[in-house]
Amino acid sequence: MENEKEKESQNQKKKGIKKTRALKNNLFACGLLCRICPSLVAHKGISRALGYFEWLFYSAFFMRYVINALETGESFRRIMIFIGIVAAVFCSMSLYNSILNGRVYPIAQAVVNKGLYRKLFRKSRNVELECFENSEFYDKYTLAMEKADDRLIQTVDVVFGAAFGAIASICAFVFMYQVDKISVLFILFPVIGNFVFNRKNSHLDYQRNKDMAPYNRRIAYINRVMYLPEYAKEMRLTDVFSLMKEHYREAITGVADVTKKYTKRAMLLHWLYVMFTFTFIFEGLLIYGAYRTLVSQTMSLPQLAVITSMMVSTTWILIGFTESLTELFKNGLFIEYLRTFLEYKEKIPEDTTGDDPGTEIRSIEFRDVSFSYKDEEVLSHLNMEFRGGKTYALVGHNGAGKTTLIKLLLRFYDPTEGTILLNGRDIREFDLKKYRALFATAFQDHRMFSMSVLDNVVMGENISEQEKEAKVVEALKLSGAYDKVMSLPKGLKTTLTHEFDDQGAVLSGGEFQKIVVARAFVKDCPFKIFDEPSSALDPIAEAKLFDNIYESCRENTLVFISHRLSSVQNADWVYLLSDGTVKECGNHKMLMEQNGLYADMYTKQAKNYLAVSEYKTPAANPEGGVLA
Ligand code: ADP
Repeated sequence: MENEKEKESQNQKKKGIKKTRALKNNLFACGLLCRICPSLVAHKGISRALGYFEWLFYSAFFMRYVINALETGESFRRIMIFIGIVAAVFCSMSLYNSILNGRVYPIAQAVVNKGLYRKLFRKSRNVELECFENSEFYDKYTLAMEKADDRLIQTVDVVFGAAFGAIASICAFVFMYQVDKISVLFILFPVIGNFVFNRKNSHLDYQRNKDMAPYNRRIAYINRVMYLPEYAKEMRLTDVFSLMKEHYREAITGVADVTKKYTKRAMLLHWLYVMFTFTFIFEGLLIYGAYRTLVSQTMSLPQLAVITSMMVSTTWILIGFTESLTELFKNGLFIEYLRTFLEYKEKIPEDTTGDDPGTEIRSIEFRDVSFSYKDEEVLSHLNMEFRGGKTYALVGHNGAGKTTLIKLLLRFYDPTEGTILLNGRDIREFDLKKYRALFATAFQDHRMFSMSVLDNVVMGENISEQEKEAKVVEALKLSGAYDKVMSLPKGLKTTLTHEFDDQGAVLSGGEFQKIVVARAFVKDCPFKIFDEPSSALDPIAEAKLFDNIYESCRENTLVFISHRLSSVQNADWVYLLSDGTVKECGNHKMLMEQNGLYADMYTKQAKNYLAVSEYKTPAANPEGGVLA
């Protein structure tokens, strides 16, 4: 049963989306563009309507009038006046089109770009972290972001193309019928060409792009790896390049295979489209006209001229209409991604409103908390408490769930079971921004931004301009990065990375880690979290950093994750996590007395340190034996 459902949903995915949904998506696109740039929508509508009007007017009215006037012996002056007026009107229309293309559209494009990407960025910032880890969602997100402004404008243009095309087609049909009833039948060729073959071709295009998407994503990833500076070192030191080449080759082969899979059908459909849309109608009509004029002698030459001209216009009107209609469905499929993304209902919206959590933390409690990433349970019925003003250490093997626990605490995810309580209340009841403002966190998988050192520490926090520099200096001193930063050409104003500034500074892993740790020092809040803050530091810097963390966070609740158990001894309480739950807890002394996992880990580390300190001179081990 489950399998059948899965198959059905996969089939639906293959087929694309329903027509009604595609149409609604187009209306959604129109509404969206109307809100972002209404004048552009108006201009697109007017220019499309004028385009069709031009075709109809020339063939159904202008040509007929001129030929009739010539036949009935109208004066040359009157004919010239008529042609002059028509020419003036069309000159004005051309001028309007030039203004649109040269001025109105480029300006409107910038407005749309700004308005649409503002919405997309806002959404992207508002969705929960999990969305970035869900490859299906992430695929849709990247497709939605890709040239979204161009696609939105084009969609609206196509909607007008289809709407005015339908009206113009009906008018053309009526005019043709008035002139010659049988000739109307020839219109069927372009109708079949466009409605049947071109639409099938577009669908094929969409299916091909969809099949290629995973390969194209891989190609884009490899391109990125080849130019982004953070990969450059590994590229040179290891042979990962050969692996990348292999992946690239596989992706290119994938693209080629997908192309091959669709080639024959694509060629056939395109050929049929051209034959029906252009060849059959023109050749057919001329044969029909020649027969009526020369053989049955039931059509005059002026009539043939008018009908041929009408057929040309009608064909182009129909091509415009059916192409718009086909595009309309095609765009409907693409707009689906944009719409799915913009209408995605966030599980933990960043702008979640709720009660004010205040500024005091008396306790944070994890009550029977379990959590799974997809199907894999990472935390299992975990119970623990952080009391205000105390110092806690989280220890445990890699993958024990320590960082995940911090992510739950910060509400990047919500527990699958159980609750987290702040001062006795479920944290989901609080305004998310205000709740997160209670925490300062230095994560181990930090990122450097191409901005000044000052901005990399402050990270947009609301600190007054007068205090900013002094606070950053103090934070950098505590984290141990001050001397290094002051030695840079522009001190705090030095830009990190070379991305936008050739004079920008490139810091070592340890130096940058100190800057990240300074972020947690600079933020004025009651709860500080340090996730492996010293993993890239040398022992002297590490010992000093922990002294500073303990000292400067005396007023705060402090939680740190550390593999170096020497840094844990001064914590008020230690939680040892294993298999996603608290296996041992207590202060250092209590845990050593328990003689369990913690004591075992500690003793093993101590032995290593002692072995090193015995091997080296005492001066090389400034802590006098880390565990002493
Ligand atoms: P620790 O911090 O104790 O080393 P983590 O909390 O980072 O452990 O990870 C716990 C487990 O959860 C690991 O097995 C890891 O592979 C898995 N995990 C972590 N993050 C994700 C994620 N975003 N998606 C899926 N699994 C994850």
